[in-house]
Amino acid sequence: MTDLSQPVSQPGAQVQSDAAAVVPPPLWLLAELTYRCPLHCAFCYNPLDYTDHNRELTTGQWLDVLREARALGAVQLGFSGGEPLVRDDVEVLVEEAHRLGFYTNLITSGVGLTDQRLGDLKAAGLDHIQLSFQDSTQQLNDFLSSTRTFELKQRVAVALKRHGFPMVMNCVLHRYNLPHVDKIIEMALALGAEYLELANTQFYGWARENQAQLMPTQQQLEEAEAVVARYRRTHGERCKIFFVVPDYFERRPKRCMNGWGAVFLGVAPDGAALPCHAARGLPGLTLPNVKDMPLREIWYDSDAFNRFRGLQWMKEPCRSCDEKDRDLGGCRCQAYLLTGDAANADPVCDKSPFHDTVVKIVRRAASGSASETGATAAAREQPILFRNDANSRKFAAAAREPDAGGDNRASPGVQS
Ligand code: SF4
Ligand code: SF4
Repeated sequence: MTDLSQPVSQPGAQVQSDAAAVVPPPLWLLAELTYRCPLHCAFCYNPLDYTDHNRELTTGQWLDVLREARALGAVQLGFSGGEPLVRDDVEVLVEEAHRLGFYTNLITSGVGLTDQRLGDLKAAGLDHIQLSFQDSTQQLNDFLSSTRTFELKQRVAVALKRHGFPMVMNCVLHRYNLPHVDKIIEMALALGAEYLELANTQFYGWARENQAQLMPTQQQLEEAEAVVARYRRTHGERCKIFFVVPDYFERRPKRCMNGWGAVFLGVAPDGAALPCHAARGLPGLTLPNVKDMPLREIWYDSDAFNRFRGLQWMKEPCRSCDEKDRDLGGCRCQAYLLTGDAANADPVCDKSPFHDTVVKIVRRAASGSASETGATAAAREQPILFRNDANSRKFAAAAREPDAGGDNRASPGVQS
């Protein structure tokens, strides 16, 4: 396994003046304001041990991050979490972001998005709201988030349209709700969403813990794709539908985050700077912190942002592959999770010696029924692990002390 604690030498890792000449500036800043969240989604991408990283930046520190990122060249800004609205300074941050010239997006579960806050956010200059649903049915929405929030989300969707916001509706897809894709699209149309993001589950964080339950079958995906294609033909003008086939079902990986350290700069609640959402899970990668280092230095000079930038870090088969410019070797976090080495080719690629791992996972999913009955049966065998503070503390303790970990899985109430 590659030792991530040792910096690698490459052109992008040189002093800032050299690096700035070859490395483009970040375009997209994701401000993860908090890990606090009233929901407990089974597929949450937040780190398993988030309770160990919950000392949040102050308002003043976030304002500095926004100013530094804008000065670097970032133009798009997402406020996310956790649930960003648990902080009462979102309006202040949006106002400053708007003044700086960012295009701003609030990524929310809807909990806390009152009429008052919608009005204040509009006045502060917020451009866009992304509202998440877990399903088109109350039962599954509420089960998967372990909350009763379905009706609240419906009310929030109506209210945010009333305040004149464009809406992206987001729904994470997996084995349980793929058969509902037509109903999810109908719900988006009925609520007036301009965009619908049908985001197939990425198996990091909590979703990785629940992979056996959430992994869809090929048949489910093909049926959902056909439904999406039909609605794109009939309703594409009214609502733009995004649907991307998940990595595990492809033979070539995707160009993850458009390249490591290429366009995306995330900042976690505690100020850790992230080259990708899941970078905290890579062992040996010391994440620079905005409290200790200017953002410019983090982007151009830090080891973490240079570690997998460009092509120099690649091993075989990527190093000599004629497709490496297209996908940049795929996702580093997926490579680590499935092969134990983040510098390996993403095993989604069928040129990877570890591709069989992915094939086996997909085959295992197919061996169950493609119906919800099958998913429910799988979840009964190994109940779902919800994202909550108690479970996170166990992961955090296990990370500190390997014998202290435990399990806290819940049986689903999903009906077939
Ligand atoms: S995925 Fe669910 S639990 Fe995780 S931050 Fe989003 S709303 Fe909260
Ligand atoms: S071998 Fe590496 S670079 Fe080539 S297609 Fe596969 S993942 Fe991409």
